[in-house]
Amino acid sequence: MTKYPRSEENRKRRRGETRLRGDFLGAGGLDQSGLRPIIIKMRREIQTFFVVVLTAIINIPTTQQCGYQSCNPVKEGMINVHLVPHTHNDVGWLKTVDQYFYGDKNYIQVAGVQYILDSVVQELMKDPNKRFIYVEIGFFSRWWKEQSQQMKLSVKKLVDEGRLEFILGGWSMDDEATTHYNAMIDEHTLGFQFLQENFGECGRPRVAWQIDPFGHSREHASLFARMGFDGLFFGRLDYQDKAERMKTKTMEMIWQGSPKNLGSQSDLFTGVLYNLYNPPGGFCFDVTCHDDPIMDDPNLHDYNVPQRVAEFINATRTQAESYATKHLIMTMGSDFNYQIANMWYKNLDKLIHYVNKEQERGSDINLLYSTPSCYLYQLNKANLTWPTKQDDFFPYAIMPHGFLTGYYTSRPALKRYVRHSNNFLQACKHFDVFSSFLGRSNYSGIQMLKEAMGVAQHHDAVSGTEKQAVADDYALRLFVGTNSCQNIINDAYKLLVPIDQSVPLPEQQFCNLLNISKCSATEENKQLTVTIYNPLARNISRYISIPTTSKSCIVTDPFGRVVTSQIVPISMETKRIPERKGSIAENNIVFQVLLPPLGYSTYFVRTNTVKDKQQETKQQYFTSDQDVTMNNTYISVTFDGVTGNMKMIKNLQSGVSSQVDHRIQYYTSHFGNRTVPMFEGSGAYIFRPNQSVPLDLEHMFPVQTKYLHGNLVQEVHQQFSPWVSTVTRLYNDAQYLETEWTVGPIPTEDGIGKEVISKYCSDLKTESTFYTDANGREILLRARNYRPTWDFNNTEPVAGNYFPVSSRIYLQDTKRNIQLTVLTDRSQGGSSIQDGCVELMVHRRLVVDDNLGVGEALNETGADGQGLVVRGKHYLFLDTIDRSAQLHRDMALKLYMEPVLSFTNSQMKQSEWSKHFRTQWSALGTKIPRNVHILTLEHLKQQISSDTFQQQILLRLEHIYEKGEGGQLSNPAKVELRDLLRGYEVLSATELTLGANFKTSDLNRLPWKYKSDSDENNLKFIPYDENNLFKILKGKTILNRLLKVDDNHLSDNLVVTLNPMEIKTFHITVKKT
Ligand SMILES: [Zn+2]
Repeated sequence: MTKYPRSEENRKRRRGETRLRGDFLGAGGLDQSGLRPIIIKMRREIQTFFVVVLTAIINIPTTQQCGYQSCNPVKEGMINVHLVPHTHNDVGWLKTVDQYFYGDKNYIQVAGVQYILDSVVQELMKDPNKRFIYVEIGFFSRWWKEQSQQMKLSVKKLVDEGRLEFILGGWSMDDEATTHYNAMIDEHTLGFQFLQENFGECGRPRVAWQIDPFGHSREHASLFARMGFDGLFFGRLDYQDKAERMKTKTMEMIWQGSPKNLGSQSDLFTGVLYNLYNPPGGFCFDVTCHDDPIMDDPNLHDYNVPQRVAEFINATRTQAESYATKHLIMTMGSDFNYQIANMWYKNLDKLIHYVNKEQERGSDINLLYSTPSCYLYQLNKANLTWPTKQDDFFPYAIMPHGFLTGYYTSRPALKRYVRHSNNFLQACKHFDVFSSFLGRSNYSGIQMLKEAMGVAQHHDAVSGTEKQAVADDYALRLFVGTNSCQNIINDAYKLLVPIDQSVPLPEQQFCNLLNISKCSATEENKQLTVTIYNPLARNISRYISIPTTSKSCIVTDPFGRVVTSQIVPISMETKRIPERKGSIAENNIVFQVLLPPLGYSTYFVRTNTVKDKQQETKQQYFTSDQDVTMNNTYISVTFDGVTGNMKMIKNLQSGVSSQVDHRIQYYTSHFGNRTVPMFEGSGAYIFRPNQSVPLDLEHMFPVQTKYLHGNLVQEVHQQFSPWVSTVTRLYNDAQYLETEWTVGPIPTEDGIGKEVISKYCSDLKTESTFYTDANGREILLRARNYRPTWDFNNTEPVAGNYFPVSSRIYLQDTKRNIQLTVLTDRSQGGSSIQDGCVELMVHRRLVVDDNLGVGEALNETGADGQGLVVRGKHYLFLDTIDRSAQLHRDMALKLYMEPVLSFTNSQMKQSEWSKHFRTQWSALGTKIPRNVHILTLEHLKQQISSDTFQQQILLRLEHIYEKGEGGQLSNPAKVELRDLLRGYEVLSATELTLGANFKTSDLNRLPWKYKSDSDENNLKFIPYDENNLFKILKGKTILNRLLKVDDNHLSDNLVVTLNPMEIKTFHITVKKT
């Protein structure tokens, strides 16, 4: 991203640039016998495939000297300055990922990644002393594809010798506030797989490098630790926090990523970089910089060695004041630096030479080319007792009115698209596994969506902090990837669904706009099939809603039984959404489907010529004095007859109740004070509201409220303004209340930006506290106007209390034993600004840029150019505290792994269809406990076995509960792997680290001494084996080691035990039974 706040000079320059550029089922209906002939037919194809892939495995030369043993030597007793040549390559920000790679549109930003790698490699080859780190595999893999075999060998040599080191190794450097853990793990796995295939052991990154993301998540620390990283470095933390840490020399610490659940296995050494990720002021030698080179001919007029050496020594001594050891790391590079690498290296050579020459005159400063891992290794050898941290680094403020809490919500539609695409990608990977059993795999087809998702996790992608054109490019990539995956699912269905191949399965059609009731596959057809795949390893039931022009329909289940359905008219608010243009649907058909685990059910819908009164939805506007109550067996919710506002929720099972007021409000956005530097307005990054109490919309518009009810669902529709409406929805057997919000276009004709919130106010006594999740996993306690590790002076009463909400936020009243939980369908910013209240920012449209580099106001205009309309949902639970975790853990899982719907307009009668096609099918062969989720099920393309019909699969199992929160569900869980997949036997399972790039038995992380906060007197010391630490497998890739599945087996019965919050990763070998 950007380099603020570096110096006023840089800020001015950047501004100048900006201006310039402008449950239920048995196994009924499940049959696999018809698959056998296909399997035989496909076997030959697969063997061919194996051969092709085998040839792609590249042997690594045997001269490996990478890892900590390849570090340049340090001088004991001196201040060793580790100069780390690096470049920060955003996979999209001001330019698209393609433009950055090629150096296109350099008038926007002088940045071409291909030139950086070309240039750096040449420099590295000249001098074994030089070092360079590379981070973003999304870019590196593109460059690698274009290189000759000779060049690849040369680069491998550099990597084997530790001269070129991969750091982090994700497809991108992901955002930490708005990403979901499933996508984060996937994008790192994608990068690691590339490195493993091409560089083996020496390509394995040892250090996580999150230098630019705008705040840091504890869950990330936990996941990084579980990926086997030895440490993490980052650049950005709250300016107050940084000042305190510099003063107390606690810039480096042990971050306890999961103190309650996973313990020390999730602890990670974490260091804060001194100067974000830039060089010391005046020492940028890049072609894009304007600092003085080292001019070292004393006969020339501009000879500046004494001055430059003095300046550098000064910078070193200043930095040394803030750190605990005699080692310092200096990041010698910045955004897209090293396009002409010689400029950097030539000056660094001189700098090293002249500063070290001062040692002859007693100087104790020693400069060396280094890498973050070499620096980390020296810190480890320093053998200090390090401080610890248990909370996170959110929110991130750069100045008193500069809280980067706006990006938690920026570009809400893109955020939803990224979350939804993760859902679709997981389903797609499942189908690829199922079809690989049948002899077909489309690895490259999936790769498109994997890569699009890898890019979309970037800290200027899902974060919403990119230019509009770049956001459009990210969305296009996801669309193309999703289309490819739709083809994969379609092809898989053609193998899975037919009982015999006498009748081909009609083409499945997918609908991307079901959330706004638009679907060309369903709208006009008088008869259709709906096939619904459930990517969860458990039976689920769920209500689905399909747009139609019909006024009455008959819906039948996979066995021909009629199921209850309701016709719900599409609201005017929905019809007005510009993106619905072309839709002729007037109604939605709503019905409940029952789905098998990792399987599908096909339902049949046909237009009924006779209107069925049972299906009708009755509508009534609120009359002045009568409250309206919606209820089912679980919940009752009451709306005030006069104001139309929600006023009370009761849980009819546990008996708890609370007053709950729900309304949509907004803040107006601060313009910023351009006369005083460092006081910016609300922008893509910053949230800076003009008021501490949000404004009501009602004063502009009388709230219109109506009540709709039928035999499956009840709804209260509220129109808060011409551009804000909500639907509060209660399904018959739902334990939650759904609120759907439709917001936009946000009016900015008055020249004022607006930030819209959905706020739920209860009578819970919450004592300034609330809870938010981190990346959809563990929950953190938040307190208003408070930071656990320093004396926080809050200068922004609202923005300074905003936290990232990836999946949920909740309030607890411990005296009354009540919890109010709100789940989201995407990442949003949220808070509890008043006791008892929860607010989530759902949409924002702004008129000024916040001057942090993006150079555009966040002003999404949508399909018609009038302003983007965004729709989303919140899910509410009100229950006792002890019952709540079960509800929100279960719901959160269902929300990010929703069923995948596809349609055919087949005119075949159901009885006939059932003769030719399976109407229900499940891949799961065993029962998975309720507290376990199959997080990953994907085909491993590279993993080949010889003659038997076997498949290699990457499997991740996750315990979805934290300790103590879910009653019995928080107990350890056991999963038997052998019969995991129906019709197949799991022969072996090798446990891998979270990133799937090496075996857990080979995990040997650097040990650290530290005092644990939870046990002050207990000094932790983890013994380690120095010899093992340096273990390098010569001449073998990790790949080869993975193929050896006999040395790291689970017990013979293949039973996996999972503790709370544990994710276990396996390479499993599966054979047809
Ligand atoms: Zn960046």
